[in-house]
Amino acid sequence: MKKTNKNKTTEVSSPKGMRDLMNEEYYGFQGFFEKAQEVAIYYGFKPIDTPILEKEEVFTGSIGSDTDIIDKEMYTLKTKGGDHLALRPEHTAALMRAYVEHGMQSMPQPVMFYQYGPVFRHDKPQRGRYRQFWQFDLDCLGNDKSIMDALVVKAGMSILEEAGATNLTIDINSIGDKECRNVYLKELTSYYKKNINGLPAVDRERLKTNPLRILDSKEEKTKQINENAPDSVSFLCPACKKHFKEVLEYLEEMDIAYNVNKNLVRGLSYYTRTVFEIIEQEGGEDGTPLALAGGGRYDYLARHVGSKRDVPAVGISIGVDRIIGASWYKKLSPRILKKPKIYFIQLGPEAKLKSLNIIEILRKAHIPIAQSLSKDSLGSQLAVAEKLSIPHAIIFGLKEALENSVIVRDMGNRSQETVKLNKLLEYLKELK
Ligand code: AMP
Repeated sequence: MKKTNKNKTTEVSSPKGMRDLMNEEYYGFQGFFEKAQEVAIYYGFKPIDTPILEKEEVFTGSIGSDTDIIDKEMYTLKTKGGDHLALRPEHTAALMRAYVEHGMQSMPQPVMFYQYGPVFRHDKPQRGRYRQFWQFDLDCLGNDKSIMDALVVKAGMSILEEAGATNLTIDINSIGDKECRNVYLKELTSYYKKNINGLPAVDRERLKTNPLRILDSKEEKTKQINENAPDSVSFLCPACKKHFKEVLEYLEEMDIAYNVNKNLVRGLSYYTRTVFEIIEQEGGEDGTPLALAGGGRYDYLARHVGSKRDVPAVGISIGVDRIIGASWYKKLSPRILKKPKIYFIQLGPEAKLKSLNIIEILRKAHIPIAQSLSKDSLGSQLAVAEKLSIPHAIIFGLKEALENSVIVRDMGNRSQETVKLNKLLEYLKELK
C-alpha cells in the first residue's frame, strides 16, 4: 500500500472483479480447457479465436438494448482513431460476425466451432460472479434441425461431467420464432397491463421495451405475478412446437433430466425457439441453484451483424470460473505439466557453466526435471530434491564437467553411479 500526495491510500491491485490466474488455479483452467477441447473435437467442433475487442455495434445490434449486458455491463472505448469498440461480453455475436465476414454460408453446413477465452461484464462482483470471466462455447451455425440443439446440450453436459459435475439438471423453454412470438408477446403484455399496479417500477419500464424480460425478473412482487403469466410453449406455432418436442425427445433418449421452465427467457434478445440453462442444484450461495452454462437457438442473429440472410444456429456457453471454483472440480491436470523424474544438482563454477547444456539434453529427450541452479551447496540442493520426493538426482561437479560425465543418485537408497554423458539417456531409460 502506498500513500498518495492527496493523503489517499491506494492499493496495488488488479481492477475490481478481475484477477491474476496463477498456481493451482491456472493449472485448473488449463487442464479444463484441454479436456473441453478434446470433447469438442470428438463431437466434430473446430477451433476459432475471435478478437477480444469488436466494433461496439456487433453487440449492441444483436444482444439488444433493454438487456443488462448492453444497458449496464459492457466495457466500451473510443480509439484514438475514433472507432467505437467493446470488450466482448460474450462470444456468440462475434462468432456470427466471423461467419458472415468469411462467407461461411458457402461451406458445408452446419459449421461447428468451439471458442474459449475471457469475456467482460461490468457486473456486481460476488461469489461466482466476476467482471472478467472465462467462457467455453460450442456453436453449430447454418442448420435449423432440432438435433443440433440436442448436440450442443449433450456435448456441453459431457464437458461438465468430465470436469466432475454430477448433480446437473437442465431448465429448458421455447420462446418461439417470429411467427408465434408476436402473438405470445401480445398476450403477455396484456397480462402485465392487467397487473400493472403490482409491478415494480423497473418492470413497468420493461413492459414498454422488452416484456419478455419481466419473466426472469428478480423482483419478489413480479415473481408472484409471473406465477400465473401465460407461458410461451402454449403459443408455439406447429413448426416451433414440433422442434421443441423433438429436442425434448432427444434429451429423454439420452437420459438427460430436464425441467420445462416457462419463465426462462435468458437475458439476451437474439434467442429464438430453444433456450436452456444447465444448473447445479445446490451450487450457489446457501445451497441455491447455480447456472453453470446457458444457451439456445439464435436463428435471426446473423441479420443483426450484417448478413443479408438468416443463418439458423444454436450454441452453449459454459462458465469456466464456476467449474474451477467448485468443490467437485476434478482438478484436471494440463498435459504439459510433468512430474519431475530427476533433480539436477550442480557443484562449482565449472559445472554451473555447463549446466544448461545438460538440462537441454534432458529436455530434448523429454525427461522432466527440477533444479535449483541458483543454489551452490550440495546439502541445500539435496534437501530440495528430498522435499520434492524426486526419485533420482543428477550430480554434476568439477570432475564430471572435465570428464563429460554425471553422477546419478538414487534418492531412495542413496546409491550413486558415474555415467558418461553419451550413455546418459540410455541409462536413465533403464531406471524405474
Ligand atoms: P450467459 O452468457 O450470461 O448465459 O452465461 C453463461 C454462463 O457463464 C453462466 O451460466 C455462468 O456459468 C457464466 N457466467 C455468467 N456471468 C458470469 C460472471 N459474471 N462471472 C462468472 N461466470 C459467469
